Amino acid sequence: MDFHLEPAKQVIVNRFREYVDRELVPLEPAFLASGFAALLPVLQGKRADVRRLGLWGPIYPREHGGLGLDLLTHGLISEALGRCPFAHFVFGCNAPDAGNVELLHEAGSPAQQKRWLEPLVAGEIRSCFGMTEPGNSGANPLMLETRAEPDGDNWVLNGRKWFTTGADGAAFCIVMAVTDPQAPPHGRASLFLVPTDAPGYRLVRNTPVMGHEGHGLFSHGEVELADCRVPGEQLLGPRGEGFRLAQARLGPGRIHHCMRWLGICERAHELMVARAASRVIGPDGRRLGDSDIVRAWIAECAAEVRAARLLVLYAAWRIGQAGAKAARDDIAMIKFHVAGVLQKVVDRALQVHGGLGVTDYTLLAWFYREERAARIYDGPDEVHKIAVAKHLLKARDG
Ligand SMILES: Cc1cc2nc3c(=O)[nH]c(=O)nc-3n(C[C@H](O)[C@H](O)[C@H](O)COP(=O)(O)OP(=O)(O)OC[C@H]3O[C@@H](n4cnc5c(N)ncnc54)[C@H](O)[C@@H]3O)c2cc1C
Repeated sequence: MDFHLEPAKQVIVNRFREYVDRELVPLEPAFLASGFAALLPVLQGKRADVRRLGLWGPIYPREHGGLGLDLLTHGLISEALGRCPFAHFVFGCNAPDAGNVELLHEAGSPAQQKRWLEPLVAGEIRSCFGMTEPGNSGANPLMLETRAEPDGDNWVLNGRKWFTTGADGAAFCIVMAVTDPQAPPHGRASLFLVPTDAPGYRLVRNTPVMGHEGHGLFSHGEVELADCRVPGEQLLGPRGEGFRLAQARLGPGRIHHCMRWLGICERAHELMVARAASRVIGPDGRRLGDSDIVRAWIAECAAEVRAARLLVLYAAWRIGQAGAKAARDDIAMIKFHVAGVLQKVVDRALQVHGGLGVTDYTLLAWFYREERAARIYDGPDEVHKIAVAKHLLKARDG
């Protein structure tokens, strides 16, 4: 098993990383002080730059205007972009659009692809994905209650979604709704492309997360569907295939998520080392990095990040060898393991910064606040652990 990229692909990954460090990292203080909305005009300029450099849309298929890179190369790019909170947006591969592009590519009709996929890949519009509901356990999407009922040539949707990331400003939402309540559990739901200006669709509020309401891409919307009417052709993929399609969207996407988290870990670790090396803690000139405890943290975090990275690369390799279905335990393991490493590394880096760590003068508080949810979204830790253990126990029992 060799995780080195071919030289040509490594050159591409390096170009992404160099751009992030040279052009985007210097914008971070303005992002932290004024927020995403204030920085948007500057970021749009960077998006134009990235297009000129031929680095736009690393994961999107070539025929739809992207670079069409393979899973591993994109994973390594995701790691480079994870270093900066808004880099995925600048390069046109941010969540949830990236997953929605994959979904539209796989299941969209030619007309749906023309209307939604093309402008999405071009970065002209944003999108969101509405599965989770306030009244039901999101960890078990079989409990969905949002209904879609046929009415002549239309579908009429009723229900409420929340944590719909990026709903604020999105042009459309991919909504999961029950179409066949009597079908077996995994065949009950379907996906719908719902324009956000459809009658009956309403963004109720941006849900505050850890004290911050967020804006645009960095928001999590609560959405009401009240007799929301969409034409029949807005059904995405076959009726009753909602769960399968949503699962397919999440599987390989976890490689990107985990690699992005590793980019965050690496950045947090760099900040920790820099602070430990420079902060003087005694009149004799002793520095934080002279403390045995801090040294142990630096070494442990370095080892944990390296091990997590190898686990993710292994999962990507397994997907390539055997497919996402056969690699489901590998994917589940990285989801909870890397999220745990992320939380620990960011927490320790923050601790090393003392009071400065909880301010918005470094990236650490932002990472701490925004990324705590890594252990919850796309399936909480417990759900993935239970699934892995179940398969291991079953394998033992034969
Ligand atoms: C920042 C953020 C962004 C999100 N973005 C989106 C989005 O864009 N679109 C979308 O549809 N959803 C989104 N979500 C929702 C997310 O997927 C759900 O929050 C997640 O699936 C958990 O569902 P829940 O919040 O209803 O928690 P619950 O299902 O109520 O679970 C609560 C807790 O119970 C435990 N638990 C649950 N089930 C089990 C079990 N079987 N065994 C043991 N313990 C269990 C876990 O610790 C879990 O954290 C987002 C969430 C967050 C926090």
